Amino acid sequence: MTPDPLNRLVAQLAKLPGIGEKTAQRLAFHILRAPGEYAVDLSLAIREVKEKVHLCVRCFCLTDSELCGFCRDSRRDERSLCVVETYSDLMALERTREFKGRYHVLHGVLSPLEGVGPEQLRIKELLERLNDSRVEEIILATNPDIEGEATALYLTRLLKPIGLRVTRLAQGLPMGGDLEFADQATLAKALSARRDL
Ligand SMILES: [Zn+2]
Repeated sequence: MTPDPLNRLVAQLAKLPGIGEKTAQRLAFHILRAPGEYAVDLSLAIREVKEKVHLCVRCFCLTDSELCGFCRDSRRDERSLCVVETYSDLMALERTREFKGRYHVLHGVLSPLEGVGPEQLRIKELLERLNDSRVEEIILATNPDIEGEATALYLTRLLKPIGLRVTRLAQGLPMGGDLEFADQATLAKALSARRDL
């Protein structure tokens, strides 16, 4: 009995993470009741994010231009490079206002069980960008869980022989935890008290 267009909207919303059938229905009714311009703005925002947002060619964070704001900002210290798993982790570190260097986003961690090897991550690109760069220190800010530690170890073995200082966020972050959800104070302290590997 429900009109097809409404069914279709509910079906699409229900595909979003954490959104069950009931929530999808509630959201769909909300959109239906909202002023027409809201629906237009929402659909435009969804289209634009797919059309305009892509990965920075240097650090692989998200941007709507060729180089992201972090890579373009000349005030950021290019001697210090922070390696993170995801863009969400980058944003978490950025919220601490503790780090003033540049970033490199791996887009995942090594996970043999899930078939993720070094070639699935942006590791080759990391090594490439280190060629004739001014980077002196690499901060490995992968998550403090088994895969994050294994990835940090793998990168340490690659990076130390190049003669770079390689550091890791200090303990204090809950083991098995996720950077993205750590509180700002804990994360800022983990960053400032980072240890050499
Ligand atoms: Zn960038």
